[in-house]
Amino acid sequence: FDDRDGFIWYDGELISWRDAKLHILSHGLHYGSSVFEGERAYNGRIFKMREHHERLIRSGELLGFTNPYSVSEIDQACKDVMEANNIVDGYFRPVAWRGSEMMAVSAQQSKIHMAIAAWDWPSYFSPEARLEGIRLDFAKWRRPDPATAPVNSKAAGLYMIATLSKHAAEENGYNDALMLDYRGQIAEATGANVFLIQGGKIHTPTPDCFLDGITRRTVIALAKGKGYEVIERAIMPEELAQTQEVFLTGTAVEVTPVREIGEYKFIPGKITKDLLLAYDELVRKSI
Ligand code: PMP
Repeated sequence: FDDRDGFIWYDGELISWRDAKLHILSHGLHYGSSVFEGERAYNGRIFKMREHHERLIRSGELLGFTNPYSVSEIDQACKDVMEANNIVDGYFRPVAWRGSEMMAVSAQQSKIHMAIAAWDWPSYFSPEARLEGIRLDFAKWRRPDPATAPVNSKAAGLYMIATLSKHAAEENGYNDALMLDYRGQIAEATGANVFLIQGGKIHTPTPDCFLDGITRRTVIALAKGKGYEVIERAIMPEELAQTQEVFLTGTAVEVTPVREIGEYKFIPGKITKDLLLAYDELVRKSI
């Protein structure tokens, strides 16, 4: 991914894609002191840009970062990256990390660096193709107790669990993994939140040990606007037996129907389709 044309914003400047490198002794690499965002532009506009940048700053604060840039400065930097790379429909990846100024667990005086890369990312699949649904495996790894880690931070370190879970699912022939939390309750997929439809009502786990996704909140608002009841609560995996539809939400996956989780099978239906289309419409028209 590093050898290509284009521009990356790095500590306040646009530099060539190939030159966007950092030192081996970066604290973020050794000790996981790194936070990031994933955002999408549709028709030349980043959807919920401000929310993503507010979360990036909050994620950093949870790791003790003094963020060098304001939300507005990060907004502007993304717009500069979009223009420099001629992106209309694309994916944006801001990242902030402790640099190589100090090499020890304690690195109070290290500098917080920030970079933003972006690349074209059109929508590949039609709503009809997406409605076929994906298959999830149960992950062996669990989302940790909020007393164990700053679980509300989109911190790179927490993605070790996601990568292990996704790799295992892929090796078993699945598309992704469903992670339970430290109590055994349904938590989320490796990069997306999860929703269940039971008897015409929409249920989703309370986000008390995983990200309360921006797409999750958007889809809850859309669902309520359409008159659906949305219930946030603790959900045990056995309840999948009484569940008719399942879908994931996230910046990357948008609204993605699920047709299988381990031994449980679902048929994406009216509510999933309704919300998938409503989300598609919203991202293309709103700021
Ligand atoms: N959970 C995890 C672990 C994620 O990586 C993401 C993607 N950022 C989400 C949930 C969904 O968040 P969002 O809707 O803000 O993209």
